[in-house]
Amino acid sequence: MNEFELIRKYFTRPAPNALLGVGDDAALLQVSEGNALAVSTDMLVSGTHFLPDADPFLLGHKTLAVNLSDMAAMGATPRWATLALALPEADEPWLEKFSAGFFALAQQYGVELVGGDTTRGPLNLCVTIFGEVPAQQALRRGGAQPGDEVWVSGTLGNAALALAHLQGRIALSGEEFAACAPALHQPRPRIALGLALRGIASSAIDISDGLLADLGHILDASQSGAEINLASLPVSSVMRAYVKLPLGERCVLSGGDDYELCFTAPVARHAEIIGIGARLGLPLTCIGKIVAGSGCIVHDAAGNRLNLEYGGYEHFR
Ligand code: ADP
Ligand code: MG
Repeated sequence: MNEFELIRKYFTRPAPNALLGVGDDAALLQVSEGNALAVSTDMLVSGTHFLPDADPFLLGHKTLAVNLSDMAAMGATPRWATLALALPEADEPWLEKFSAGFFALAQQYGVELVGGDTTRGPLNLCVTIFGEVPAQQALRRGGAQPGDEVWVSGTLGNAALALAHLQGRIALSGEEFAACAPALHQPRPRIALGLALRGIASSAIDISDGLLADLGHILDASQSGAEINLASLPVSSVMRAYVKLPLGERCVLSGGDDYELCFTAPVARHAEIIGIGARLGLPLTCIGKIVAGSGCIVHDAAGNRLNLEYGGYEHFR
């Protein structure tokens, strides 16, 4: 099968919301009136972001999910995507499952694949996603103000705990692993939350590199500091047993791959945010507050300041 047959068979689907989709030298996209185009790219590299034997259906899901997560964090509605692929070979059973996982999630969020690039090479998956948001309502990193509350969605650390198990750094029971693995393999982008937070959150980011690292980006951009409470961080019932161990604590504070949202909002919005969580069926937890200064201070349940020597995942450290 040549490159063009492969593209036709696995990556060409109708794109009614694009002026022109796959097949020409470029796609043509028209943003709705009053909206800015939100553009983001995320690449998954074999051996760095996933294990080479990863399930191709789940990989198709995750390749798009991590990009949708950036739209969520921006408060944008995802509309279109492009997909650049380097493949070691045209493995049809693999491609079948990968594209099924990709399109299942794309359909769920109304995202159309409008182009890409396909080449031979070490497995590498790169999506660029295009969404829409009124420019003034975009959830940027730089808007947090001292006094604002800091929130996170869902629970923290399950993806890192599942990864620690796969890497043999901890031994979870079959039941525990089954409960954590979806966070690692099938993250659910918080699109509905991002949209609901327009006009409410003062800043937002998605947690891809761990809470401390990603909250740190909000703090840097907002020229502020934060104080958070370890005991208030939302964890799953599985994580509750591990968070007292150094590895568990580390998963919660700086484990990557959770793809929950971390956001800030004025205290006056507290009740509204609780209401959004109830409406979406997604726990939203206030974990601390923004303060003047810089950096993030973490307190334990007794109010003692933790001395943390770790941050988030960094590729070149
Ligand atoms: P060009 O040589 O102009 O770059 P290509 O041969 O790379 O064109 O691609 C042909 C068409 O197929 C283009 O419209 C391109 O966007 C699309 N395409 C290529 N690879 C993919 C892919 N993996 N997924 C979706 N569309 C793709
Ligand atoms: Mg090309």
